[in-house]
Amino acid sequence: MPAEAPLSKIMDVSLTRSCNYDCSYCNQRQDLDKPMFDMSESKRKIMSNKRRTGREWIDGLNAFPFKGDYDKLIFSGGEPSLHSDFFAIVSQVKGWRAKMIVTNLSFDVDKLIAACRQEKTRVIVQPSFHFEFADFEEFTGKMDKLRAAGLLSNFIPASIVNLPDRDDGEKFREQFRQRGYNVSLYRFEGYYKGKFSYAPLDGFGGVKETKEVFYSSCVQPVKPNGDIVYCTTDTYSENYISYGNICDQKYVPIPNEITVQNYGHRHISAASWTRARNAATGERIWQGKNFRHRTPANELRTFLEIKNYSWLATAKHFVNKMQNRVKKPDAVNQTNLD
Ligand code: SF4
Repeated sequence: MPAEAPLSKIMDVSLTRSCNYDCSYCNQRQDLDKPMFDMSESKRKIMSNKRRTGREWIDGLNAFPFKGDYDKLIFSGGEPSLHSDFFAIVSQVKGWRAKMIVTNLSFDVDKLIAACRQEKTRVIVQPSFHFEFADFEEFTGKMDKLRAAGLLSNFIPASIVNLPDRDDGEKFREQFRQRGYNVSLYRFEGYYKGKFSYAPLDGFGGVKETKEVFYSSCVQPVKPNGDIVYCTTDTYSENYISYGNICDQKYVPIPNEITVQNYGHRHISAASWTRARNAATGERIWQGKNFRHRTPANELRTFLEIKNYSWLATAKHFVNKMQNRVKKPDAVNQTNLD
């Protein structure tokens, strides 16, 4: 295979696996001893949730010597704001190309805005609207405040899941539009009411995919205990290889590609960030929509996202519409719906 550009990587720090919501479609099911297609009855379980203090996160992430390898640092969970030192962590971690928070927006945004002002820093908030629990007026009121403070993502101002049997996603998308927000509606992927929903049945997550493959991930998750792992699947398991620990300030080189035997059992939430290749021929078996290299086009995309220009949501919406229009109905469609 010809030499590739470096991966366009993200470090995704899960401050806690706990969440104050309990969405019926939550993807965080963790019975990795079962095949992916057989987890529909699994409950949302909290594993690997030994948390670190705010001081440990701030010191560890500030001292991390390979920040330049990552396009973004994301704080996620569970719901990251449930960490008791959340505001201190997200505002006092510095020196990364961009900081983002992926959240259900249940926290007090005034506290975040004040912490960022005090620390003279910016963190981009990318909220998800979980309609089974969130209140629309309260949610959009918080978006207004974040937007005024320059902390709301203009690339994806909010995202809403589109469930196979419900039209709430589309209805709320319209309501958001009327409030001036071009939010993103994305296809549900995972287990819901006893059914598994995902397009490439013979690709990532296919039950037959048990052979050895070359496997690569653009996201390096970090567990609540500080362990760096290879892909999102490992965040749901106690049986994982760690590539160092942020809070203990121990670092292990992370290979661009590894060999795995359990490809078919990898977790659905890893799919969009990963690539799998046939170990014998090198041919691509699966490549998720977020698996990217630092090509000039992807560098431009990252640059725009980090700059957080206000026209980005409209441009993204337009591109998605065009991509969906030209996709053949039978093709694997990894484009967001809207
Ligand atoms: S807010 Fe997110 S993490 Fe929490 S239950 Fe809902 S889908 Fe799961």
